[in-house]
Amino acid sequence: MSRAKIPQLTETTVLTQCRRRCCLCYGLDADSRIKHGQIAHLDQNPNNNKIDNLIFLCFDHHNQYDSITSQSKGLTPSEVKYYKKELFDHINAIWNITAQRPVTIDLITGLYSRNSETASAELEIILFNGNQVKVKGFALYGKTSPRGPNIGDLDFISTINNNNMIMFEDNIHTNKYSITIELFEDKIKVEEKYEPNYFAYFGAGVSFGGVLLKQNKD
Ligand SMILES: [Zn+2]
Repeated sequence: MSRAKIPQLTETTVLTQCRRRCCLCYGLDADSRIKHGQIAHLDQNPNNNKIDNLIFLCFDHHNQYDSITSQSKGLTPSEVKYYKKELFDHINAIWNITAQRPVTIDLITGLYSRNSETASAELEIILFNGNQVKVKGFALYGKTSPRGPNIGDLDFISTINNNNMIMFEDNIHTNKYSITIELFEDKIKVEEKYEPNYFAYFGAGVSFGGVLLKQNKD
């Protein structure tokens, strides 16, 4: 079976949540030291890269978890999930993270933009309820035009899918606009589609497409 690569953002979240502690070392041996290890799939399906299905395990426990023998009762997914939760509680207590703050570290919320002399685009993405996002966008084209630039805006709510993508579409009569936003740690990649392809959803020339870089908050 071919193995889908774990998206970079998902991988970073898995590694930072546990701070490279193995939840089986902690759950079985009360050992919360940093370990060399790998990301394992709880359901043993290498293509299920949902964050709830991924755990960082030390090499020994990864091998132990993956080798299920009929003679002995192997580690069960719900047992491992239990230790994962215990480990996160332990880490949150040590790092003094308050109970109100979700365990999931939000690497997504932020302002993303690109800017040139003639055109600009920015998208603000706010993560809420785990995997839902509120997206607001503003783009300009023809910034140096004496008649003033053409404008486009976006405002929608969507969810992040398993491939770290946000999708949204809007129909005006029989015309369809759709946007796909792929999330990375420090940027987003945006693709737009128009059906029919001459359909103008924004002002002429306006686009959110391309690579938009995450802006640092000050
Ligand atoms: Zn371990």
